Amino acid sequence: MAAMEQTREAGPILPNLAACLSDAATEAEAVFARAKSRLASKIMAGGKLAADVLDREQHAAHALAWLATYASTIRELARYGERLGDENRFGEIERLTAQIAAGEYLNQILGGIPMNQGEWARPGDLGLTQADVARLAANPLHALGNSAEVRARFVALMVAGQSADSGLDATLAEMRGTMARFVADKVAPHAHGWHLANAYVPMQIVEELADLGVFALTLPEEFGGLGLSKESMCVVSEELSRGWIAVGSLGTRAEIACELILCGGTEEQKHKWLPKIASGEILPTAVFTEPNTGSDLGSLSTRAVRDGDIYKVTGNKTWITHPVRADVMTLLVRTNPNETGYRGLSMFLAEKPRGSDANPFPAAGMSGSEIEVLGYRGMKEYEIRFDDFAVKAENLLGGLEGQGFKQLMQTFESARIQTAARAVGVAQNAMDLGLQYAMDRTQFGKAIVNFPRIAGKLAMMAAEIMAARQLTFHAAREKDAGRRCDLEAGMAKLLAARVAWAAADNALQIHGGNGFALEYQISRVLCDARILSIFEGAAEIQAQVIARRLLEGGN
Ligand SMILES: Cc1cc2nc3c(=O)[nH]c(=O)nc-3n(C[C@H](O)[C@H](O)[C@H](O)COP(=O)(O)OP(=O)(O)OC[C@H]3O[C@@H](n4cnc5c(N)ncnc54)[C@H](O)[C@@H]3O)c2cc1C
Repeated sequence: MAAMEQTREAGPILPNLAACLSDAATEAEAVFARAKSRLASKIMAGGKLAADVLDREQHAAHALAWLATYASTIRELARYGERLGDENRFGEIERLTAQIAAGEYLNQILGGIPMNQGEWARPGDLGLTQADVARLAANPLHALGNSAEVRARFVALMVAGQSADSGLDATLAEMRGTMARFVADKVAPHAHGWHLANAYVPMQIVEELADLGVFALTLPEEFGGLGLSKESMCVVSEELSRGWIAVGSLGTRAEIACELILCGGTEEQKHKWLPKIASGEILPTAVFTEPNTGSDLGSLSTRAVRDGDIYKVTGNKTWITHPVRADVMTLLVRTNPNETGYRGLSMFLAEKPRGSDANPFPAAGMSGSEIEVLGYRGMKEYEIRFDDFAVKAENLLGGLEGQGFKQLMQTFESARIQTAARAVGVAQNAMDLGLQYAMDRTQFGKAIVNFPRIAGKLAMMAAEIMAARQLTFHAAREKDAGRRCDLEAGMAKLLAARVAWAAADNALQIHGGNGFALEYQISRVLCDARILSIFEGAAEIQAQVIARRLLEGGN
C-alpha cells in the first residue's frame, strides 16, 4: 500500500513502469500456467484431449486461450518498452500506451476477459482462486495503470498531434512511409466511393501495388520476390488496410498462393507460378469454402476425378473473394471419395480466364453468382458452381494426391499474421476517424473529445491497437526466425480482430447519429471490421485451435 501511495504521488506514469510491465508479464504467465494445469487435470486423460470433452468444456478451454493471449500481449508490451527504452525512444506517449494497455488487460484477467461482447473468460471458469491471482492483483498496474488521469493525459497528447512510436527500425519505418503516401494519394480519397458503389479496386491500383512489390514482398529472390521479412508484410498490410481493407487484402490471396506453392509445390510449379504472382501478372484466388463446409473444411465434398491428363471438378464453392478477375484458383477438392476426412483432399492450381461483371466465368463447366455483402467490398464475393470443370493434372500441387489439407495448414501461420495486420490497419483507420471527429464536433460548448467518456474510448482504442500490433509483430518475428508460430499467429489474429471491431464500434459511437449515415466513412469501417472475426479462422475456431495446442503440449 505504501508503495502504491508512493507511485501515485509520482504522477500518472508509474515511475517504475518497466519493472511493473515485466512483473505483470511474468505473473500473468504464472496465472496462465496454474489455469492450464487445473484445466488439464480436469479434462485430459493420459495427456490426450478427447474431441467430445473439448467441445463440452469449450467455454473453459477458450477462456484458457484468451488468458494465454493476454499473457502474451502483456509480455510483448513489456518487450516493447524494453526495446524502446534501450534506444531512448520510450517517451511519454509510448509509456502511457503501454501502461494503459497492460493495466487494462491485467484488470480484465482478474475480472473477466471479453471473448466478445457477450461471453467472458473469468478466473473462476478456469478453477482459479483469489490466492492464485493475488500477486497479479498486487501489481501497481492493477490500480493505477488505466486510471482516468492517465487516459486524460494520453488523449491530450493525441489531440496535440502525437502518436506512439511502433518501434520499427529505419528500413521498416521508411516502408511504412512509402505505403502511407501511396494510400493518402491513391486510396483514401476514393475508398468510400468505391465501397458505396460496390466497385472493384481499380486495376490501375492493382498494377501500382504490383509495381510497389506488394505481391512479391516475402517471396525469395530466386522466384522474383524481394526476399523481405514477414514483419515487413505486417507493416505493408497494416498501412494498406488503414486506407481500405480491400487494398490491404489483395496481397492476402498472393500470400496464400505463394505459401502453398513454396511449401508444397514441385520445383517446376514454383518456377512457373511464383514469378508471375510476384509481378502481379497472375492474380490468384483461394477456393476452399463450400455451402455446407466452412469451419470444418476437412469434410468438404467438391470432387475431382482423374480423366487422362486432366481432372474433372464437380461441386459447389461459396464465399470466394475476387474470383472473377483471378487467373488461377488454389482449389481444394476431394480426390479420394473413400476418405471422408481431410486425408482425401488435394490442392490444385486451377487456371481460369479472367471474367467481367457481365460474364464472370467465361470457362466451360464454371458458373457463379455474386454474394452482396455489408463490407469487405472491392474484390467481390461469389458462389461458384463447377460441373466437369477441367484442371490440368500437372497442376496438382506437389504432384501428390491427399496432401491438400496438410499443404493448406502450412499456410495458416503466414495468412493469420497477415490478417492480424489487416485488422490492426482497420482499427487504426477507425481510431483516426474517431479522433478527428471528436476534435471537430462541439456539444455543450466544447469539443466532445474533452468529455472523459469520449476520451476514454479513444485512449483504449489507441492502447489496444498498439497491443495488438506488438503481438502481431511478435508472431511475424517468430516466423522470420524460422520457428513454429501457429500459436502466436492465432493469438495475434484472435486479438486483433476483436480490437478492430471494438475500435470501429466505439469510433462510430463517437460520431453519434452521423456514424449511422452511409455518407460517413466510419460506416464503411464498421462493416469492414466485422468480417475479421469470421474469416481466416472464425474467433471460436481460433480459440479452439489455440486451446488444443496449449493443452496438448504447446508453450
Ligand atoms: C467476406 C468473406 C470472404 C471470404 N473469402 C473467402 C475466400 O476467398 N475463400 C474461401 O475459401 N472462403 C472464404 N470465406 C469463407 C470463410 O472462410 C468462412 O465463412 C469461415 O471459414 C466460416 O465458415 P462458415 O461461414 O461456413 O461458418 P460455420 O463454419 O458454419 O460457423 C458458424 C458459426 O459457428 C461457429 N462454429 C463452428 N464450429 C464451431 C465449433 N466447433 N465450436 C464453436 N463454434 C463453432 C463459428 O465460429 C461461427 O461463429 C469468406 C467469408 C466471408 C464472409
